[in-house]
Amino acid sequence: MTKIEEKGQGTPAHKNHLGLTSIILIALGLGIICGVVFHYCIPQSGIRDDVFVNGIFYVIGQGFIRLMQMLVVPLVFCSIVCGAASIGDTKTLGSIGVKTLLFYLCTTAVAVSVALTIGNLINPGLGVDMSSILVSDTSSLDKAQSSNTSIADTLLAIIPKNPVQALANGDMLAVIFFALFVGIIISLMGRKVEMVHRFFEQFNDIMMKMTSIVMFAAPVGVFCLLARTFANVGFEAFLPMLKYMLGVLLALAVQCLVVYMLMLWLLARVNPITFLKKFFPVMAFAFSTATSNATIPLNMETLEKKMGVDRRISSFTIPLGATINMDGTSIMQGVAVVFTAQLFGVPMGPVEYATVIATATLASIGTAGVPSVGLITLSMVFNSVGLPLEGIALIMGIDRILDMTRTAVNITGDAVCTTVVAKQAGRVNLDVFNDPLAGKDMDVAALEQN
Ligand code: ASP
Repeated sequence: MTKIEEKGQGTPAHKNHLGLTSIILIALGLGIICGVVFHYCIPQSGIRDDVFVNGIFYVIGQGFIRLMQMLVVPLVFCSIVCGAASIGDTKTLGSIGVKTLLFYLCTTAVAVSVALTIGNLINPGLGVDMSSILVSDTSSLDKAQSSNTSIADTLLAIIPKNPVQALANGDMLAVIFFALFVGIIISLMGRKVEMVHRFFEQFNDIMMKMTSIVMFAAPVGVFCLLARTFANVGFEAFLPMLKYMLGVLLALAVQCLVVYMLMLWLLARVNPITFLKKFFPVMAFAFSTATSNATIPLNMETLEKKMGVDRRISSFTIPLGATINMDGTSIMQGVAVVFTAQLFGVPMGPVEYATVIATATLASIGTAGVPSVGLITLSMVFNSVGLPLEGIALIMGIDRILDMTRTAVNITGDAVCTTVVAKQAGRVNLDVFNDPLAGKDMDVAALEQN
């Protein structure tokens, strides 16, 4: 069956269906409502807490995240090998790689600067009663302290001593390094290693298929994740830290709605509103899982099917971005620096701010795309300017909701840089980008065609 025939048959059949992405959004709203009802309207009891919140919601939500995480290492490895191998000419890969890296580093540096500016305008650390919010969870603080690695070690860890171990541990930077290496060599050796090339391509197809099947569990997973978060925290838990939260959220909004939109408009010459509309479900997904890594498959799929971005580029830049490009996380770290400095009366001058911009940008490279890691790498940033690590304990209690929001920004940054780089390399199909219906039923269609 030809592509056109498939489309011709598929489109009318899906006309009345609610797309999977719409169902995910509905699940997101229902999850929040359910969690808030649990928190405020249902009194504490074994049934509420043990059966629902820490039972059903926890198991299904975490089970879904594990399903998504299960895909990540094989998917990233195969797609980078295939991407690097099929891009053919290593010169193109090199120039795209360097450009992407530069974009990733620059957008992160801009993100920290935005956060420091907004932090200083809002002054989140002034007037907060520290003693009332000091969390006694020092175990997490110890964890943060002990995981404080030097910048040199972070860079060296990119080269795996043992690639199999890197794959088993899910060390994404090392996996990316090795996969790129394998892909480039496949491309250099050409026909001699055709079978291996085909193996990776077919394994990649298997992983993509597995992704679309797992995506069908997304609405239930998203519902349970959000219901549990809101049932545990409710709205009141956010109040004492409102200013800090507002500062982070405002900076995230500026990065997403001003910096990224300007980049798309000025550097990629595409309509930023179209981008945002089509990309919103991916952001919603990242928001509910707080995991950049788990969002890789959906991000790549959306860029290809809805925006016409060549998968040979996104298969390399998206996993790389989910691993090293954490603009949202750096924003949280910037505001946290101002907040803690004000709380503890540590003076901050231009030199300290420049140091924060540099370390937060590098810390972003070492931040894994999974929940809460940003808090751990925050210790690197605090240490660089002599801020007390107790500041991390202060913001720990309310970090989950910010983690969800910054993850949405993290993956948007990856997609924006990818679109800019791909567009400049002439690898964006504008007909697809500008077609409002492109990829609308992508997940449903993918399943039904097979
Ligand atoms: N949860 C974030 C992510 O997956 C990382 C972090 O900031 O903790 O992108």
